[in-house]
Parts: sequence; structure tokens; C-alpha cells
Amino acid sequence: MKTPTIKTTHDAFLKAACDELGYDEITFELLLTASREMRIELPLRKDDGSVVVYNGYRIQHHNARGPYKGGLRFHPSINAEESRGLACLMTLKTALVDIPLGGAKGGIDCDPLTLSPRELETLTRKFVQKIHREIGPSLDIPAPDVGTNAQIMAWIQDEYSKIYGYSPAVVTGKPLATGGSQGREDATGLGVSIVMEEFAKHLDESLLDKTVAIQGFGNVGKFAALALADKGMRIIGLSDVRGAITNSHGFDIQQVVQHVNKAGTVAGMEHAEPIDGAALLELDCDYLIPAALGGVIHKENVERVRARVVVEAANGPVTHAAEEVLTNRGVYVLPDILVNAGGVTVSYYEWVQNLQHMSWDLDAVRDRLRETLVTASQRVLSEVTSSQCSLRKAAYRIATERVKDALFTAGF
Ligand code: GLU
Repeated sequence: MKTPTIKTTHDAFLKAACDELGYDEITFELLLTASREMRIELPLRKDDGSVVVYNGYRIQHHNARGPYKGGLRFHPSINAEESRGLACLMTLKTALVDIPLGGAKGGIDCDPLTLSPRELETLTRKFVQKIHREIGPSLDIPAPDVGTNAQIMAWIQDEYSKIYGYSPAVVTGKPLATGGSQGREDATGLGVSIVMEEFAKHLDESLLDKTVAIQGFGNVGKFAALALADKGMRIIGLSDVRGAITNSHGFDIQQVVQHVNKAGTVAGMEHAEPIDGAALLELDCDYLIPAALGGVIHKENVERVRARVVVEAANGPVTHAAEEVLTNRGVYVLPDILVNAGGVTVSYYEWVQNLQHMSWDLDAVRDRLRETLVTASQRVLSEVTSSQCSLRKAAYRIATERVKDALFTAGF
């Protein structure tokens, strides 16, 4: 057997966890390698009559603990390699919060902002026409991710249901009108705040009056900002793809949301100093929350990061090399598989409700979300204390062990 090559940040983190747990190369390879990988050609006739050929991907990483589960990303950067790393991350995430699901990821290499609603709908439906045999309520359950939303999930559900009959459990993150769950939209952002609160308790601190900068004001960043403002944090920096702003006194997030609803960006907000997008990551603050894309804190800019704690609300925002630098400097990095697990946790509740033909009220969803994330956070923090290791190592150890146990118990 040849030694598997480490290609992504996630591979490197997984390898480190396997080495520490004393797993052999075969076990590492089994944990790293996806069960199945699909690339699908998607020709689309655009509104102007021209034809563009997109690529769709679905990587099904592991299903030893439950059906494959994970988002679909519509972004020009999506490819097999990126999906592979993100799919593995989903397997670890569902294991860490101990929900009976596996891991998958995929998407289409399109820029949804340049597509008309008709083009987007056609492309989404084409994708389902080509992969419907490989997804399903007990097989693989997609969800929103970067560049996708509840509407896109509704189209997937509809296209799938044309073939298999009414099947709300084939996707999560759907609109409420077609069987979505209360509390799914803001679950990831709310989850970020729950994990941060548990971490602050571990440091014997509170989040009150602490400063925070957030990169990304989409589904994760916006709801994290609202939840953290509720906890009395001072949000001194915000950004999105079109601009970045700072105010050392802290923003009124409700006002920022109103501004974004009108202007489509945080840029141009009143009483805000415009700054460079890159400078947002370098603001002097207690907590820095990258909540957009992966790899944004890397070898070249890590020395300029001044936050005390980096909170990975995005998937993989800190590279392996950058994390080493941060950890050596005593900066804490709260790992993605814990920090942003609120989304898939409520996806799990949505799936359960669909399978049972029931719907829970918002309080029931939020209470369970809190319970699940508090339990997972405490498990990670107690591993940090007992093993004197980083938060990432603790999280990876717990998750990797659970996946390995399921794989080996099921047998080959
Ligand atoms: N895309 C989200 C994630 O990366 C949610 C996945 C899901 O709900 O299945 O965790």
C-alpha cells in the first residue's frame, strides 16, 4: 500500500490526530479516503442562448455512523479536491457532536451571483436529475453551504420528489413552507455563540464587553453577530465580499442588518471607518471570527493576527501552518468541527422531524441545539485539560476515535 498524500489542511489535521492516537497507515487511509466521488457534467443554456458547461461534484466521505450528510456549495472554486477535504470535515463534525450521520460535500463550480433565477433553478434541477440515484433520505442528504440557500434546497426537494414521491427528508435547510425546521436558518451563527460562551467559561471569563471582529456577514456571520451582541460583546469589525468596516465603540448590529438589507453590503454603514478586507483579520480584538471561506489565515498573514482567540465559524479558515504559529504564540483556535456544528445539528433535527412527519417549535429546537453543543464543547474542553493539548487536537481525537470505532465495529 502506498502512503496516502496529505493534500489539504484537513488531511494534515487528521494525520496528526491519527499519529497521536497511534493508528497505523491503513487506518489513516481508511479515515481519509472518501467512499465514493462523483463529478457530473452540467451543460446549461443561458438566457442569452449561449451554452456554458459547469461541473457538479458530490463526495460521499463516510457513512459508518449514518447517511452521508453535508452541504452543496455553489462557488467557482469548488472542485473534487476541495470537496474531498470538506466532506471529511463533515464526517468528523457529525461524529464530534454525536449525531447519527456521516459526511459528504459537493456543489457546482458556478458563480450564483452571475446567474439569473431561471438559470440557477435549471442548473440545480439538472444536478438532481443526474445524481438522484445517489442521494436520498437514508443515503445522502444535502444542505445549504456557501452560495446556496433554502430556495435551492426547495428545488432539489421538488425535483427529487417528482421521481420518488413526497420526500422532504432528502434535503435539510429547506424553507419552512416545504418542511424546513424552525431555527435552521440562524443555527450555525447561534451555535458559534454557544461554543464561544462555553470556551469563555473554561477560561473563567465572560463574553460581556469583549471585542470581536467578524469576517463575512452571510448566514453564519450575521447570525453570530446578532447572538454575540445579545451576550454584550462589542463588535468592532465587520466585512463581506464588497467591503470591511470598523468602529472601536462597537456596532449596533440591528442597524447594520437594516443597512445591509438596503445596500446589499456592510460597506457604507454610518459611523464606520472603511478598512481593507485584509486589515479586518488584523484588528486588535479579543475574538476574531472568520465566517466566510477557507484558508484566509495562512503563513503570510498569520504574524499580523492580533486576536487572542480565533473562532473558526467557516470551514477550514486557518491553515495547518498558520495554526502552529498561533498556538506557539498562545493564541487559542476554536476548531470548525465544533464551532460551526450548529448548522448540521439542526439539519439533523429537521431530518428527524421530516421522517416522523412532525414539527417542533422553536424553543424545542433551540433547547436541543444548546444541549448538544454544550455537551460537545465540554467534552472537548475536558480533553484539552486532561491531555494538555490544543482544542483542535482534542476535537479531532474525539471525532476520529468515534468514526474509527464505527468503521471497525461494522467490519469489512
Ligand atoms: N454546510 C453546513 C456545514 O458545513 C451544514 C451542513 C448540513 O447541514 O448538512 O456544516
